[in-house]
Amino acid sequence: MSDELWQDRPMVLPWLKGRWEYLLELKAHNRFPHALLINGPEGLGKACFALALANYVLCREPHNGAACGHCRSCELTESGGHPDLYQLKPEEPGKPIKIDQVRELTAFIYSTAQQGGYRVVIIDPADSMNINASNALLKMLEEPGANTLIMLLTHRLGQMLPTIKSRCQRVDMPPADVALATQWVSTQLEVAPEEAAQLLVIAHNSPLQALAYKQEDLLGLRAKVLKGLADILKQRSSPIEVAQSLYREDLELLLGWIYSWVVDIARSTENNADPDLLRHTDARNMLLALARKVSHHRLYAFADQVQAARKDLMFRRNPNKQLLMETILNDWRLLLRPD
Ligand SMILES: [Zn+2]
Repeated sequence: MSDELWQDRPMVLPWLKGRWEYLLELKAHNRFPHALLINGPEGLGKACFALALANYVLCREPHNGAACGHCRSCELTESGGHPDLYQLKPEEPGKPIKIDQVRELTAFIYSTAQQGGYRVVIIDPADSMNINASNALLKMLEEPGANTLIMLLTHRLGQMLPTIKSRCQRVDMPPADVALATQWVSTQLEVAPEEAAQLLVIAHNSPLQALAYKQEDLLGLRAKVLKGLADILKQRSSPIEVAQSLYREDLELLLGWIYSWVVDIARSTENNADPDLLRHTDARNMLLALARKVSHHRLYAFADQVQAARKDLMFRRNPNKQLLMETILNDWRLLLRPD
């Protein structure tokens, strides 16, 4: 997402400060692990956290719990070209990290640090290593050599090999504190706290996602999806037409939205359609209309179906995206059919 934003000045976002202090404490007591598995949802700031930790570990004169910002190492980190920092990621976003890429790491891991300190590796997202790539990494995790820090970042812990997980110290990132995140988003975007709060609800409390919503006009895409869904219910468009207009978008994101709307509907049908229970106020009218008419049985079946489709996408089973979207939207249309 926006990790370029932090590339020149990695920072620890306010809601991750506790984890930061914990790791520095380990370091101060010589209990710093050689491999960290940094786990937590997307858009929380894991990537800049890892860069900040790399920066700190590589810095020659860290003080007050932060890198100094002006030693040779800090200059190299900030220029993005520190020879003792190795960032491993897929060659293209969404593609797996290949075994050859992991093998290239070997030379780096077993070399001497050029600046005489640590060598740091950041693998992001680590869950995108396939089994062969993971196995190639295992040996390095077992015998990494002195003064090495390997950070594996994931938001899909379930996809990591148990053998990899067991060789790392796991650091679970906590959900972003709502008050801190609201304040931060509001400052970053220069919007009122109320708007920041609404963006955070839509972004499932992911602060970086909330920024992206505003900056990449994902709110526009969201409005388009909502309109498509409403058009299907009002029979102004067919599921096939709407699927045609949407299937090239980020379907995991879209299905996530649809799922959260369905959850909203379920919540309000259980409570006599109290509008205050709807979290997604931008979709309020349609959600309330559905809540009044839909059968529970259908709604829950539909929710399961959306979750199954999300899993297919997540585990890269390469579904036919257009067909997948058509199926989902067709069943969306059927929500209002009497049992
Ligand atoms: Zn420094």
